[in-house]
Amino acid sequence: MRHTRLTATHTSPYAQGSVHAYVLHGEVPTLVDAPTADASFLDGIDEALRAQGDGPLAQVIVTHGHPDHIDGAAAAHARWPQAVFRKRAPLPEGDGVPWQVIEKEPMITAGDGQLWALFTPGHAPDHTCLFDVHSGTLLGGDLAINGTTVAIPADYGGNLRQYLQSLRAVLDLQPRVILSGHGEPILMPASLLRGYISHRMTREREVLECLAAGITTADAIVDRLYAATADALKPAARQNVLAHLRKLAEDGRVDPAGDDWHLRSA
Ligand SMILES: [Zn+2]
Repeated sequence: MRHTRLTATHTSPYAQGSVHAYVLHGEVPTLVDAPTADASFLDGIDEALRAQGDGPLAQVIVTHGHPDHIDGAAAAHARWPQAVFRKRAPLPEGDGVPWQVIEKEPMITAGDGQLWALFTPGHAPDHTCLFDVHSGTLLGGDLAINGTTVAIPADYGGNLRQYLQSLRAVLDLQPRVILSGHGEPILMPASLLRGYISHRMTREREVLECLAAGITTADAIVDRLYAATADALKPAARQNVLAHLRKLAEDGRVDPAGDDWHLRSA
């Protein structure tokens, strides 16, 4: 899979400053993720296409609808009006982009090959990874970020139970490398993904221990488990704790009562 990585700056809280998009070279020149309408970013796409002898951009695939992955879609549509735009539902409304919805898990012709569009919800309800079976390369969106963990924003479509299922589904594929929306390429995907799963299992145990000790609100659990975390990061920590509590509720192990959460007696 011949590709060029482009990096854009973005102020979204998800982006932590910068986000990558990928130009896939070949018969169907494709952009994976459209982070910004910035003209220099769009020029960079043109330069990457020209350098590889490609024709104009023919397709844009967006991994998920967070602003740092989709804010540039309308500008890309204006510059390459013939390009096809694809993402999983829900589709944005009113952006003027003729989105085509990705349904099920199709093979999509892109660059010089085929990408398998895997539904990988959890970080976002529409999250999709693109897998090049031939090279073992996964275009991972925000499924995994080298050197850190991924936010599961429980109040904004995040779902920890789905995220863990998505991690396991990707582990089963045995990708050789993950090219992420943020950070450097992940060259040992299995160890990072297994680490993510065990990190969440440890956190889940800690949340259960809090509940057993009578610490029953998300805020109180954040204060206990994230005591060393800077105040600015506490809202994100709260979203993660809520994601754990809701997963435990889906698992039938806790019950919510207003802001309180209680262990379900066996
Ligand atoms: Zn995201």
